[in-house]
Amino acid sequence: MKQPVVAYVSMEIAVAPTVATYSGGLGVLAGDVVRAAADAGYPMAAVTLLYREGYFRQSLDAGGLQHEEPQRWQIDAQLEQLAPVLTIPISGRDVAVTMWRYSVRGVDGDVVPVYFLDTDRPENDEAARSLTRALYGGDARYRLEQETLLGVGTVAALEALGHEQIATYHMNEGHSALLVLALLERFRSAPHGPPVFDDLARVREHCVFTTHTPVPAGHDRFDLDLAQEVLGTDYVTALRALDLADHDHLNMTHLALRASRFTNAVALKHGEVSRAMFPHAKVHAITNGVHGGTWTSAPFAALYDRHLPDWRRDNWQLRQAIGIPLPELADAHAQAKHALIERVAHATGKLLDPNRFTLGLARRATAYKRNDLILRDTERLAAIARLFGGIQIVFGGKAHPRDWDGKGMIQHIVGVAPALAGNVDIVYVEDYDMAWGAALTSGSDIWLNTPRPPNEASGTSGMKAAMNGVPSLSVMDGWWIEGALEGVTGWSIDATTGSDDERTADALYTLLQQTILPAYTRDRNCYLEVMRGAIAFNASHFNAQRMLAQYAIEAYAPSSTQTQTEPADHRLAG
Ligand SMILES: *Cc1c(COP(=O)(O)O)cnc(C)c1O
Repeated sequence: MKQPVVAYVSMEIAVAPTVATYSGGLGVLAGDVVRAAADAGYPMAAVTLLYREGYFRQSLDAGGLQHEEPQRWQIDAQLEQLAPVLTIPISGRDVAVTMWRYSVRGVDGDVVPVYFLDTDRPENDEAARSLTRALYGGDARYRLEQETLLGVGTVAALEALGHEQIATYHMNEGHSALLVLALLERFRSAPHGPPVFDDLARVREHCVFTTHTPVPAGHDRFDLDLAQEVLGTDYVTALRALDLADHDHLNMTHLALRASRFTNAVALKHGEVSRAMFPHAKVHAITNGVHGGTWTSAPFAALYDRHLPDWRRDNWQLRQAIGIPLPELADAHAQAKHALIERVAHATGKLLDPNRFTLGLARRATAYKRNDLILRDTERLAAIARLFGGIQIVFGGKAHPRDWDGKGMIQHIVGVAPALAGNVDIVYVEDYDMAWGAALTSGSDIWLNTPRPPNEASGTSGMKAAMNGVPSLSVMDGWWIEGALEGVTGWSIDATTGSDDERTADALYTLLQQTILPAYTRDRNCYLEVMRGAIAFNASHFNAQRMLAQYAIEAYAPSSTQTQTEPADHRLAG
């Protein structure tokens, strides 16, 4: 293993479907960054927390009401426990922390270690032991204690492991921003008293931050009184002395922005939105990408192996997919669709028709994502479906346990399904995870995305679809603004409709009726050409190899220290 020079720190990292320490897009992206680094032999190590009960296991009752259970998974069989035990002060007592390692292996055998911090040790009190039980569970104190563990624990862990060459700490979202406090201790010039702005300037040289949240309400904020209890006087004094806290609260995004030499958003549009939200910060944009080897189904991997043999090492070769004969593409997709149909049959007992046009939509069930928008006018949808021999829709996605609107959205989808059966056959698969993500994005005929703009920072599931020649049908938001070539890589739901649900649904129905279903049912080569275009234009660009290359050049390289022009003590608005 190479000595890592970049530490990638994330509240969740999806290293494998059976390591249930992730909830969704943020963790999957983190996993894809790590997998791309392993492929490239890039000297990186990653740190996250070990959630013994995962996020949660979702089940739906007959009415579509979501139920949650702990998600137990095999730790010992998949992760290696390391010897050092760390001691991290949290809420006035010392918490003992164990580290576990998962080795992510790249195409050429290079390894990126992912370290999982675990507080479930006998010497800890019950509250401390439960700190690494569940992802995104608990109250504000639980959350701040977890973020303290992640931030302060990361610096301690990498030190204990002898990773002394770490030059850059990459905070993936604000959850890990408390690592700044540990670094201030390490880089301070005077042995006593609070740190000074020069110390912060030194810390900034080592920090890079990726923001993922386009709405102010989505950024983690904690009461400073609570921070005082959890972090202790020294850390809170440091926060105040360096203007890293806002009046009476601690905003993790602001902390990360003020303490990083380079900040980026995750798509070009999200960069614009973030610059408007934080007018004093210089926010770059590095659009997300997905890991080709992970998200390409077996039939498409075989197709690429035949035509573009080095595609795993060099994702740019996918540009040449434009020369792949359409019948071979059709055959690979038929196999991927068959695999999805088998998986759905096994999980739900419902048998989908391989010849029917199948829309896929799986994403977190929350209001702004509007997962049920296509069901807004069920009579019109059924009438369109009848014109073209029927359609099928496969839905998936979990709602956060306290997101009642999200849960209601799932109930709505499950509730309207029986009345539509025959014309529009609807399946809602339970417990959406990486394995379902791979099956759905490769086996659907089109990937549907209807969030309310500009809430979708990037989105990555449509990129997975592109890896498998599945076109997108999406509103203009997130990455799709960059990936949309009308009738070439997919279809866009009228950009001018904004957030108006009714007009967006109307545009969606019109596209299905006038353009997409006619192509699919009567001009199959035209449809196959769009599938091929999705690979050549989008899979070749929206991949994790390109994303990592951009991070390496723009964010990790030493010259990127010049790009953040704000003085360290400048107060950020927002
Ligand atoms: C890819 C993926 C996501 C993120 O996709 P979005 O388009 O951002 O919704 C979320 N959850 C799982 C399980 C995934 O595989």
